[in-house]
Amino acid sequence: MAKKDINWSELGFGYVKTDKRYVSDFRDGKWDEGRITDDDMITMSECAGVLQYAQTIFEGLKAYETNDGKIVTFRPDLNAERMMDSAKRLEMPEFPKERFLDAIRRVVDANRDWVPPYGSGATLYIRPYMFGINPVIGVKPAEEYQFRTFVTPVGPYFKGGAKPITVKISDFDRAAPKGTGNIKAGLNYAMSLHAIVTAHNEGFAENIYLDPASRTKIEETGGANILFIDNDGNVVIPKSDSILPSITRRSLAIVAEKYLGLKVTQREVFLSEVFEGNFRECGLCGTAAVISPVGRINDHGKEFTFASGMDEMGQTTKKLYETLTGIQMGTVEAPEGWIFEI
Ligand SMILES: *Cc1c(COP(=O)(O)O)cnc(C)c1O
Repeated sequence: MAKKDINWSELGFGYVKTDKRYVSDFRDGKWDEGRITDDDMITMSECAGVLQYAQTIFEGLKAYETNDGKIVTFRPDLNAERMMDSAKRLEMPEFPKERFLDAIRRVVDANRDWVPPYGSGATLYIRPYMFGINPVIGVKPAEEYQFRTFVTPVGPYFKGGAKPITVKISDFDRAAPKGTGNIKAGLNYAMSLHAIVTAHNEGFAENIYLDPASRTKIEETGGANILFIDNDGNVVIPKSDSILPSITRRSLAIVAEKYLGLKVTQREVFLSEVFEGNFRECGLCGTAAVISPVGRINDHGKEFTFASGMDEMGQTTKKLYETLTGIQMGTVEAPEGWIFEI
């Protein structure tokens, strides 16, 4: 066993085919025992449910090498639970939590050589997903499903430091009030593609979506939750039933309270509050970047620049970032149950 010969710190966020993946099939009302395979290709009917009606859900988490050479993942039990919630909402069979954790353990273990070394800044991204695979032409749930997990090494999210980004208030909506915004389904991303390409063409890094009913409250971006630091240095997190419950954001809330002694409030956040200057820092939270600092928000030409500015991550955001990544990499003691050793 030897690490792959890869220039880890130069890796981007792209798919690199690794050696092994995990597959389990759901047929005749039950999951089979599952297997590790070399085969990265999927053969399915031209009429497979996933191809016709987008019946597919996914998860995303990472494996890290810690400072003492262990390979760990971060709170995978929450990914397992969230995937069960996603499955219920799309009328798919749940992949049991213990099975999910076993799949993560086996697929990471089978690809140990692909786990980037401690200190490289790179990580092993893990992608569990499930989709309807039998032919479906009348609109109804599939009867057969496949659950798969592959891994791919990804480079440091911030090469040469985290530069604050400028985000726009989108003219498109992400999630209807009683829609599917709170589950991790491919369909939420398909419909965000036009909005993100539009934002990029206009020179913005990301879209902030507002609540579609009133278009006054901040929800999240296409793939990350938002948090604010108010002028007293406390954390404010937007609340809405259509926000995807980010594991990073939920963990940061605990880090803020328990490690940094900050007050954390989850409540509706109005866009007008941003322009009134109620917040001095803003960050986007997700597995990929942990926190990506937002320096400026543009609402149809009207701009607000946070006090933290466009040069570096805000002070409090930085402390949150460093504490959480320290917990993940083993240099800061983790709360009970957060680290799952492979
Ligand atoms: C995956 C995802 C996030 C981030 O969730 P994490 O569990 O922190 O990775 C945030 N918003 C959306 C819409 C997502 O799909």
